[in-house]
Amino acid sequence: MIDLPAHAARAIARLEDAGYETWAVGGCVRDSLRGAQPHDWDLCTAARPAQMQAVFADGRVLETGLRHGTLTLLTDGGPLEITSFRMDGGYTDGRHPDGVRFVTDVTADLARRDFTVGAMAWHPDRGLCDPFGGLDDLQDGVLRAVGDADARFTEDALRILRGVRFASQLGFSVEPGTAAAMRRQAGRLANVSAERVRAELTGLLCGRFAQRTLLDYADIVTVALPELAPMVGCAQQHPYHRYDVWEHSVRALGQIPADPALRWAMLLHDSGKPACKTVDENGVGHFYGHPGVSRALAEQVTRRLRFAGEQAARIVLLVEQHDRPLGDSDKLVRRRLAQVGEARFRDLLAVKKADAVGQETHPEDIGLLLETERRLAVVLAQDACLSLRQLAVDGNDMQAFGLSGPAVGEMLRALLDAVLDGELDNTRAALLAHARARMEGAL
Ligand code: ATP
Ligand code: MG
Repeated sequence: MIDLPAHAARAIARLEDAGYETWAVGGCVRDSLRGAQPHDWDLCTAARPAQMQAVFADGRVLETGLRHGTLTLLTDGGPLEITSFRMDGGYTDGRHPDGVRFVTDVTADLARRDFTVGAMAWHPDRGLCDPFGGLDDLQDGVLRAVGDADARFTEDALRILRGVRFASQLGFSVEPGTAAAMRRQAGRLANVSAERVRAELTGLLCGRFAQRTLLDYADIVTVALPELAPMVGCAQQHPYHRYDVWEHSVRALGQIPADPALRWAMLLHDSGKPACKTVDENGVGHFYGHPGVSRALAEQVTRRLRFAGEQAARIVLLVEQHDRPLGDSDKLVRRRLAQVGEARFRDLLAVKKADAVGQETHPEDIGLLLETERRLAVVLAQDACLSLRQLAVDGNDMQAFGLSGPAVGEMLRALLDAVLDGELDNTRAALLAHARARMEGAL
């Protein structure tokens, strides 16, 4: 039994009253049946696009997908996507149907869908329509392609990434024949737009079962992210590191909150290691300079996958700085806070904790990070001066001393450094005295 929200029930009733068979379909049926709250409700209907428009002529309607039979009805309960029953034509580009054919049979519509658990429809009176065994697969926790798996992934390679993303979000296993077809057709991911690859991979990285999925499907993920392929199987040969670079990164990712930028930063933080690896005479591996190379790869990946500038910058900063100390004294904590700000400082704390846990060899590192966190709280509670703006003197004061041009900024920065280092109180008198002493060459 599915608890249909009122806005969806009303839309189904209106279309049915007009003579068009209509069902709730796809993810909302899957999620309801597994006891999860659907994040949106989609309907499918025997009404053709023009007939849907006629039924909802008095409603607020977006016609963005109308060519493929989809209309969005804006209701008080949220937007509803309603799609005419359709079969897809050929897929010459390996991603989009060349055309669609509207049909009258809901089973034909379900047959074009990618996985059986998403190929079920539900109606408040008629109940479940499940021609491909979706309910059994849902109960068994299995993702299975509808029909011939190779054909389905050849038609639209995005389905391969949807499959691994669903595995990560739902914790389902992929039916072996379907998984084999995903692997055989993975090369076709080149047909998928950067935006869609980014969205699916981000969903995968933030899934509850991301760690397991990234280990099981490293080969598919690194087709979408070829920059990271050398991480897989790259042994670290170091007493602190029990796992290869890929497995360490994935385990670290599993330890950080499911915020997209944090998850991406964890996946990318050691991506430069394979290129930096050297082995010393004792057989121990070293990765000198790897944060810089990881940073370059993070820039490349975020640019290629068209991340928004702000998110890309956050990821790149975390990757670049993941190995730099955050400070084991109030003075260092103040300096790092002044450099990166509180939000990035907290991000870096999370990154470093996850990195340490992902190594599984040095639990004392966590203790040090907790100490840094405690110092952060102390420094923030002091309302310490962390920026030029917060200094108790400004450029005018320096000009009154006879300084001009770049010398003004240099003096202010020297004063801020002294305050951050705890050498000087942020009071007007102390700052002016210090500035005078510096000008007189006493410091
Ligand atoms: P979620 O919304 O949680 O990502 P979903 O299964 O609802 O999962 P949507 O992208 O909302 O996914 O699509 C709704 C339904 O449309 C799916 O359940 C599936 O039946 C079908 N579908 C979506 N994308 C494809 C695709 N690329 N190929 C085949 N069927 C698809
Ligand atoms: Mg959906």
